[in-house]
Amino acid sequence: MNMNMNMNSDSNKNEIIKKLRDEAIKAHHHSYSPYSNAKVGSALITDKGNIYSGCNVENGSYGATVCAERIAIFKAVSCGERKISKIYVYTKDGWPPCGMCRQVIREFATDDTEVIIGNEQGEETIYTVSQIYPLSFGPSHLGI
Ligand code: ZN
Repeated sequence: MNMNMNMNSDSNKNEIIKKLRDEAIKAHHHSYSPYSNAKVGSALITDKGNIYSGCNVENGSYGATVCAERIAIFKAVSCGERKISKIYVYTKDGWPPCGMCRQVIREFATDDTEVIIGNEQGEETIYTVSQIYPLSFGPSHLGI
């Protein structure tokens, strides 16, 4: 589901984070995780104000598993989006994105893009991409 939200005022910031949390929680209920039993949901908002969500989808081969964050990002990119403004990651215990997801987030974000990590208790921590992925390799290294 794509939704459009206005990100022009700071007063909308908390509302946007709440919406991302709601969408990430909804997505985590769809998690296909029979091997780990770890349900993950993610939701992001793009620079165009559209919201995309995803859940982790595991595979019996293990290596073909795709994390919730990458599914949300790939859904956005496949709809023509190229820039993440904020991304929310929800798990019961507030797990941070894995290294592979950090690299994919970096591809479509800036150093200042917010990565919000939330848990079942409602606790949230807001990081920037540069905080969770310092000295990252990104498109600028290849001249993009
Ligand atoms: Zn991941």
